[in-house]
Amino acid sequence: MSANEQGWDVRRLPSTPGAFVWYFIARYRRFYLGMLALQTVAVMCAVLVPWALGQITRKVSQGLAADQAFAVLTWPLAGFAGLLVLEMVCIRGASWLHVRTLPRQRRSVTHAMFAYLQQHSHRYITSEFAGALAHRISEVSMGVTQTLAILIFDLIPLLATLALAVVILATANAWLALFMGAWAVGFLLLCWFLAQRSHPLSREYAAARSTSTGKVVDAVSNLTNIRLFARHPFEHQYLGQYLDREVAAAHRSLGYMEQIRWFQNACGVVLKLGILGLVLWLWRAGAIDIATFVMATSLSLMIITDVAGLSRRLLEFFEATGNIANGVRTVVRPHEVTDRPDARPLKVARGEVSFNDVTFGYHAGRPIFQHLNLHIPAGQRVGLVGASGSGKSTLLSLLLRLYDVNEGQVLVDGQDVRSVTQHSLHRQIGLIPQEPGLFHRSIRENIHYGRLDADDEALLAAIDRAGARGFIEAMEQGYDSLVGERGVKLSGGQRQRIAIARVLLKNAPILVMDEATSSLDSITERYIQDKLDEIMDDKTVIVVAHRLSTVAHLDRIIVFDRGRVVEDGSHAQLLAQRGYYYRLWSRQDVAA
Ligand code: ATP
Ligand code: MG
Repeated sequence: MSANEQGWDVRRLPSTPGAFVWYFIARYRRFYLGMLALQTVAVMCAVLVPWALGQITRKVSQGLAADQAFAVLTWPLAGFAGLLVLEMVCIRGASWLHVRTLPRQRRSVTHAMFAYLQQHSHRYITSEFAGALAHRISEVSMGVTQTLAILIFDLIPLLATLALAVVILATANAWLALFMGAWAVGFLLLCWFLAQRSHPLSREYAAARSTSTGKVVDAVSNLTNIRLFARHPFEHQYLGQYLDREVAAAHRSLGYMEQIRWFQNACGVVLKLGILGLVLWLWRAGAIDIATFVMATSLSLMIITDVAGLSRRLLEFFEATGNIANGVRTVVRPHEVTDRPDARPLKVARGEVSFNDVTFGYHAGRPIFQHLNLHIPAGQRVGLVGASGSGKSTLLSLLLRLYDVNEGQVLVDGQDVRSVTQHSLHRQIGLIPQEPGLFHRSIRENIHYGRLDADDEALLAAIDRAGARGFIEAMEQGYDSLVGERGVKLSGGQRQRIAIARVLLKNAPILVMDEATSSLDSITERYIQDKLDEIMDDKTVIVVAHRLSTVAHLDRIIVFDRGRVVEDGSHAQLLAQRGYYYRLWSRQDVAA
């Protein structure tokens, strides 16, 4: 599935910050054009106010009798009032459009980023901090709206004000226009230059912030470990290092911003004094009249007010663009494991699984499997045993294409797992992973996850088979009990039974269990095994287990050692071979 219900292609999010922001502007372009138009009118009004003030001053200074004042000034005053009202209405109108757009745009950004993140490979997801990723998504969606708000409500109006001020001054006096123009160009160029230099600093600050947030989330989710090892001071110190780095990065970034403020304030003083001096000089020389005098000084005062607000806004602007750059760079990377353009849905008729000449390692140069060959005929129930770290879980990950093989092929019913869509592959294989995670939702929701449209009858059947009914119904909230984050409020065996029920409900033609019953007592395990045997008839089943009694009754047992198949046969055959399996069996038997 390449496009979600909102109609955008989650695989093709722009990967540079600028293009990313543009992508979301384009989605709301009518709103943004409306805001721009209203802001432009508002700026025009604002700049014309000093001009109208000049006209009024001129009339007053031409020796107006007091009783004539209102008659003569009616139109200039009406114009003045009109400008003020129009400016206000336009600004409020733009702001209203902004209020309409902002929440929806944030929703789109969050949604698109999350959809993109979902497509990332298992390797990516397991090597990033969950907390940091979530933090980045929210920073990016905040960043996009902030950046655009500052552009539309601060930076663009300022540019327009400066340009219009120059034009208006030009109609009165060329020197004034020249001075204002030179000041504006110099100011903007320097701002631009300083902005360029501040960018890496604010990016570094954003990265430091998101790392320390990731560390906090990691520590918070390991609070129990901290307690059990009495490592409170250690964790304080550990987190302290990252917070110190954040503080240092903040000092660099904010300190630099402070320099920019000094510069901006100085520019303001130059403009105020410069315009006043120039106006006085021109007036004395008779080059301008009183109207221009008033207009030019009030224009410069207005611009200085705008510029003073700008320094704070620029700070936020750089921070927001830094956040966007940081988040986009982390999240919007090319996906590592993707569906081929010509990928078709996997069709499972029988459920045959083959590993053909497979070579794979998590890291280059350290292969786990080398030229592994394994064929599991349709409908066979296979046990996979072997020492810890011998590659059993990895083999299952390859079957599910959580990682791509380096060489060779993994085939399901003759179809290479790389040639089919991942969705269809994962729908046809029910996996109970070694560490099943549950959502912090109710038990019912967790089990329903296996098949969202299952009715109560199917749900209860799955729960019965998984031997979970008794303990669920004994709970105070029953099926509505919340299970805690990742299922921590359940016992290990209860969590496993919820995970089994969830997969049984899914009812996929291929069933894969990685230590699915390892935390259960042998009586409960026996009960579930009997139930599972009933439904295994038409399925291909792979069961990984350390406890050999879990797999002894299956059709075939494969013994793994350091990524190689060392023994292969039925329980009786392997015992007769008196090899590795035999030794394991005798030892567990003795232990039991
Ligand atoms: P166990 O019985 O303990 O579950 P296993 O047979 O399932 O062991 P695997 O989990 O497949 O073993 O691991 C095989 C090897 O691959 C181990 O050496 C392990 O350290 C390594 N490994 C597993 N997962 C990763 C990963 N995500 N990144 C890098 N190396 C990994
Ligand atoms: Mg394992």
